[in-house]
Amino acid sequence: MSTRLSFLGAAGTVTGSRFLLEVKDHRYLIDCGLFQGGRSEKVLNWEAFPIPPERIDAVLLTHAHIDHVGYLPRLLRQGFRGPVYATDATQALLEIVLPDSAHLQEQDALYANKKGYSRHKPALPLYTAADAEEALKLIRGVSFDSPLKLDGVTITWRPAGHILGSATLDVEITNGGGTRRVVFSGDLGRYESEVMRPPVSLADADVLLVESTYGDRLHSEEPIQKVLGEALDHIIKSGGVLLIPAFAVGRTQEVLYHLRQLQESGRVPDLPIFVDSPMAVDVSHIYCRFGNDHNLDINLLMDQNECPLRCRDTRFVRDVEESKQLNTRAGPAVIISASGMVNGGRIMHHLKWRLPDKRNALLFVGYQAEGTKGRLLLEGAERIRIHGEEVPVRAHIFQAHALSAHADRDEILRWLGGFSRPPRRTFVVHGEPKSSQALQEHIRKRFGWEVSAPRTGEVHEIV
Ligand SMILES: [Zn+2]
Repeated sequence: MSTRLSFLGAAGTVTGSRFLLEVKDHRYLIDCGLFQGGRSEKVLNWEAFPIPPERIDAVLLTHAHIDHVGYLPRLLRQGFRGPVYATDATQALLEIVLPDSAHLQEQDALYANKKGYSRHKPALPLYTAADAEEALKLIRGVSFDSPLKLDGVTITWRPAGHILGSATLDVEITNGGGTRRVVFSGDLGRYESEVMRPPVSLADADVLLVESTYGDRLHSEEPIQKVLGEALDHIIKSGGVLLIPAFAVGRTQEVLYHLRQLQESGRVPDLPIFVDSPMAVDVSHIYCRFGNDHNLDINLLMDQNECPLRCRDTRFVRDVEESKQLNTRAGPAVIISASGMVNGGRIMHHLKWRLPDKRNALLFVGYQAEGTKGRLLLEGAERIRIHGEEVPVRAHIFQAHALSAHADRDEILRWLGGFSRPPRRTFVVHGEPKSSQALQEHIRKRFGWEVSAPRTGEVHEIV
């Protein structure tokens, strides 16, 4: 009986992570991500799932980012009935991010209908808040390093250091007499993060899937707080507003951490920091619950005044009206708002309002996928289209590479160096073609492994 691996997404691109593992007559879906980016990516989310979802035995998740989990409610809508396994911290984050993702889908459809800019009439949400609630009921929490036995496979979640709860999946397949090990790296974190612990290397794999988001580059050595300090200097001097596109869970806490450090050291004065998102809640309590995942002091986290994941003047804005009032607010101030890749959400309204004014600044702290407005802005676009309107870009644009949650090329190679023997097959995934290509070349040169970068739709017999 063969074991097959199908690449249903995040192959030749960074979003839509979905890999199907078929062992005898059992089917496991590893990650269930949304495609994100421009129209050509978003449209992929509307296609029928390539196999009937009711035939999937279980979904196994690496971490709570939308490009790894955001398709789950849609899968449910097409007949999937669970279960879904994820680490306990991922489960806790999903309770925040899935309803928020549904809310964004509903908001975008509503707004498109109101303004009449959608190609589809009426514009529909990909899924609703009710679908997200149903999806949450299917999730079963698992602990790191505790093997989970399912039909034909035993799965162990190992720490990947990328965000709270993020994991590398170590899947042992029993098929006929022998066993084989398939390792899914998931997104790999950084070795020197002040907040997160480093990724844990694995020693053994027959088949390996490794991410390559930054497979073609090294993160700048420039300290995070230097770039952040410069962006703050700009708006403090001009009286402008610093916009930081960031997902409300994960990246936002890292940004708050470094802002707080700058304020504590006296490098910048206290100023109002708005975390503007429908899910804008203080998630530092989740960091308290999962203390083994990060480097922060739990006692400090629990202290209202000393919590390192909050600045002294941090305001969480949930309400839409309150969010709109931010448009007319004078600087200096910082607004952190989703989505992090500038492809929807409240950040769009803030950009429409703030980009035309050169007193303002925009700071990118995460990966900007191809086709997103974030990528256009990073590449120096002089104007961008937001909600059907042309918006001139005069605000100053900064980028903090070092705030990335992803390992860079050398960090990926360092993680790969943990394997004690070459995997029989290595697949480079989760990267744009240029990054995947570069990482393949480095793997061949450094380790001499058999490596390839599959395309979406490819199916490989792996045993
Ligand atoms: Zn991720």
